[in-house]
Amino acid sequence: MKTVPEYFGSMVFDDRVMKANLPAKVYQSLRKTIDEGAQLDIRVANAVAAAMKDWAVSKGATHYTHWFQPLTGVTAEKHDSFIAPSPDGGVIMEFSGKELVRGEPDASSFPSGGLRATFEARGYTAWDPTSYAFIKGKTLCIPTAFCSYGGEALDKKTPLLRSMEALNKQALRILRLFGNDTAKCVRSSVGPEQEYFLITKEMYDQRPDLRFTGRTLFGAKPPKGQEMDDHYFGVIKPRVAAFMEELNDELWKLGILAKTEHNEVAPAQHELAPIYTTTNIATDHNQLTMEIMQKVAAKHGLVCLLHEKPFAGVNGSGKHNNWSIATDSGQNLLSPGETPFENAQFLLFLCAVIKAVDDYQDLLRLSVATAGNDHRLGANEAPPAVVSIFLGDELTAVLEAIENDTPYQDAEKTQMKLGVNVLPKFNRDTTDRNRTSPFAFTGNKFEFRMLGSSNSIACANIMLNSAVAESLKVYADRLEGAEDFETALHAMIQKTIKDHKRIIFNGNGYDGSWIQEATEKRGLLNYRTTPDCMPHLLDKKNVDMLTGQGVYSEAELKSRCEIMLDNYCKTVVIEANTMVDMAKTQIAPAVEAYAADVAKAAAAKKGLDSALVCSYETGLVRKLSALLDRIAAKADELEDALLALHQAEDVQAESVMIRDSILGLMGELRLACDESETLTAKKYWPFPTYADLLFGVK
Ligand code: ADP
Ligand code: MG
Repeated sequence: MKTVPEYFGSMVFDDRVMKANLPAKVYQSLRKTIDEGAQLDIRVANAVAAAMKDWAVSKGATHYTHWFQPLTGVTAEKHDSFIAPSPDGGVIMEFSGKELVRGEPDASSFPSGGLRATFEARGYTAWDPTSYAFIKGKTLCIPTAFCSYGGEALDKKTPLLRSMEALNKQALRILRLFGNDTAKCVRSSVGPEQEYFLITKEMYDQRPDLRFTGRTLFGAKPPKGQEMDDHYFGVIKPRVAAFMEELNDELWKLGILAKTEHNEVAPAQHELAPIYTTTNIATDHNQLTMEIMQKVAAKHGLVCLLHEKPFAGVNGSGKHNNWSIATDSGQNLLSPGETPFENAQFLLFLCAVIKAVDDYQDLLRLSVATAGNDHRLGANEAPPAVVSIFLGDELTAVLEAIENDTPYQDAEKTQMKLGVNVLPKFNRDTTDRNRTSPFAFTGNKFEFRMLGSSNSIACANIMLNSAVAESLKVYADRLEGAEDFETALHAMIQKTIKDHKRIIFNGNGYDGSWIQEATEKRGLLNYRTTPDCMPHLLDKKNVDMLTGQGVYSEAELKSRCEIMLDNYCKTVVIEANTMVDMAKTQIAPAVEAYAADVAKAAAAKKGLDSALVCSYETGLVRKLSALLDRIAAKADELEDALLALHQAEDVQAESVMIRDSILGLMGELRLACDESETLTAKKYWPFPTYADLLFGVK
């Protein structure tokens, strides 16, 4: 059997393969493109394509695809085989540089949010050489960006790459000011921790809600939930362990650094964390991870639920986006340094993040907004919908001392003027942890915890990179023109702390009093739902920043806002339709059948002895009948409300109607159905219950 180092990355056209299979000159020129973004010559592309094809064919591949991330949130691929006819009637395997670099999938069926009306229907894909090609099944997958012919991004990778470039440019300006002349580039890196549920395929198949919407729309609370906390980090069940083992193998073959796995808080909930890597690669890898989780689960007779809130009353699933920025030589710019000089630079980058998160709370919030995640944010296990930063006591004390020009800790040792020579030395704070903060500093990185488990991490990182690039730009503009660097630096850090300290909160984010303080005293935003936050994508300050940083054009932003709201509406409408259908065709008939049988039993008893009262049966039938009336009435009301959506003028108006009418009615219908479940004999119930689903995997 092969050891992990022997098969790790065996399905990836990575640096090792390139070095071994490309002529030295071609390799060097490709490396220059990968490392520094240099333009790629078509001759180089031809040579790379030929080597890629030979390698892929030797691994059994027959097809290739440009693999991209349209705005549907999942990945897309269109397979072409390598075959080309040869004169003797046979075929040869061919793949040209042109085919590698550019593809032309038909763009017309992907969401474009109006871009299609304004621009051409055709789109093209362009190779992203910074993310390695890989083989999935029998297909060579080439990571690509997806644009319209006018150059408008139709995907998530294009703006992500642009945001990384924006951050690179501004961070390098700052590093030069600190005398760093050697860094060639600065990149953000991400380690996304992925949560998910595993349930049996057999039970999944019996639930239309899971099949159509990815979450349960009905289900009374099970007698046992997560209250015992006995699942978290608990012993992994054999079937789950077998799944994890195969998952790791598949991910490792694809060069994905799957590292940690454990049971999560809720029953049937688990987590997988990879080792961090460059943001665009981490994004590709996370998309692949989610896809492979589902495939491997199917092989084990399981279904992997990536929905943010598959079960009401049980913890939802998130994705913790661990984010930092580093130079090409590996210096982490969010790591407190050894010397005061390094610490001054660290503090500036830290301030850039603080300012960015405060200035663009709305963008961070909306970058994770989906119908699914709305159930999670603000519920009692996930971070609230209010964005704030956790820094820990030590760092907060340092910032306070700088703000107030007061001594930090020991006055004799340190003077808190932020001349680079006198900044106190402090070490990374490893002791305190805060699990309730949406945006927590964890020593040398920030952990953005608002992402939902099914979110592509692209959106959050686009906003994070762009917002931090904007802070750095403001700083660089000022510092480059400063007469005295140290004085200007001190003044700027101090001003950032004064202006933006409201965003720092080290307390319990789950506490109701925090929401009150955040919104009433501190003026922080609290956008609870997708319709609340999404339209702010088009606020002038946000459009100015994102277009100014070259990350989005205004047309692209409008299209994205439209697509996200449309996605929200469609998701909820499908859920509501599924509810009506299940209530009318499954739940009501089951309750009716049970009530009828109980009534029959009572009648039979009375037939035997007319003096019998049968108050149990009578009471139960009465309750069930009342519930049936409620179910029917609520289902009708919901149907009417769904019909009324057609009157909405546009997608934004529709999303508001959904928030204000549909969601409430869905809740009421569910309540009546769940109450019926608790009164109906188990054998009448038409699908597996919460207890079955959550404790079904042995
Ligand atoms: P924690 O205990 O806070 O969860 P871990 O060390 O387990 O911290 O890391 C969690 C995730 O953060 C992992 O995916 C890890 O690779 C990632 N990570 C660690 N350092 C960095 C960094 N500098 N940049 C981005 N992600 C990082
Ligand atoms: Mg963590």
